[in-house]
Amino acid sequence: VGNSVFKVTILGSSSAIPAYGRFPSAQVIQYANSNFLIDCGEGTQIQINRYKIKSSKIRHVFISHLHGDHYFGLIGLITTLNLLGRIEPLEIFSPKALKEIIRVQLDVSNLKLRFPLHFHSLEDNPNPILDTRFMKVYSFPVEHRIACWGFAFIEKEKERRFVKEAGARYGVPVSKIPNIKKGADFVAKDGTIIKNRALTIDPEKSRKYVYITDSRPIKNVPDFIKDANLLYHETTFLKDMNNRAFETFHSTTTQAGEFAKSLHAKSLIIGHFSAKYKSLDALILETKASFPNTELAIEGKSYPVD
Ligand SMILES: [Zn+2]
Repeated sequence: VGNSVFKVTILGSSSAIPAYGRFPSAQVIQYANSNFLIDCGEGTQIQINRYKIKSSKIRHVFISHLHGDHYFGLIGLITTLNLLGRIEPLEIFSPKALKEIIRVQLDVSNLKLRFPLHFHSLEDNPNPILDTRFMKVYSFPVEHRIACWGFAFIEKEKERRFVKEAGARYGVPVSKIPNIKKGADFVAKDGTIIKNRALTIDPEKSRKYVYITDSRPIKNVPDFIKDANLLYHETTFLKDMNNRAFETFHSTTTQAGEFAKSLHAKSLIIGHFSAKYKSLDALILETKASFPNTELAIEGKSYPVD
């Protein structure tokens, strides 16, 4: 049994304003059969169509903060989902004020949605904000001008892998396999105890994706984001804009690379590029100088978490 699909598709990579065809922040995580949307800048629904993301499979939306380039696309997406006949609830994790913003927009147009919106306000909380069958999602505060949150998507610990040949050797009935995968020993007919280790091998490693945008390099690093398989970190500016990055609570190329290194991340995607930069060549070159395993966030491109 192989790993489930776990990948990130970039929908928007621009900071503040759309520039050179680049959209403001948005991305989709596809895990097995579900889609998680992170940030929802203006035009996100256009990108969802363009890159053939199934919007009906989005059950959870995560909004990092309430600067417009991270959520101005949400009301458009919500009303489209309504017109498409959605009935399943949409779970929205965001700073508290978003609920009121969306409510006003629906109220003034006298629009009654056919599906419920469930708002979950982000607070400084070490517990998972979402706990599904396969995945735990955590939020954590980052360092921006207004309250802003990073997110970590962490696969749950997987079951041990049952070795068929060993099962045949010891006469393990199919009905016992689920418990053995969970770690149980097997008691043979003659009462012999067959240790779990003789029947299984270690599970596949859990994978981890971490999203940090609109922040200086954070100083309070939660343990659960360390060793990420894949880190998305904003890189709004080149390193010569260090002062500007500091004043506006953003990060430079070098800072993103150094941060990925300090996290022991396996690979890095940089995004949230300033509209100053038509070409992204210098951004990727500078970041690679401190963290070689870096890629640019390219809209429409998918990046595996592994
Ligand atoms: Zn911002």
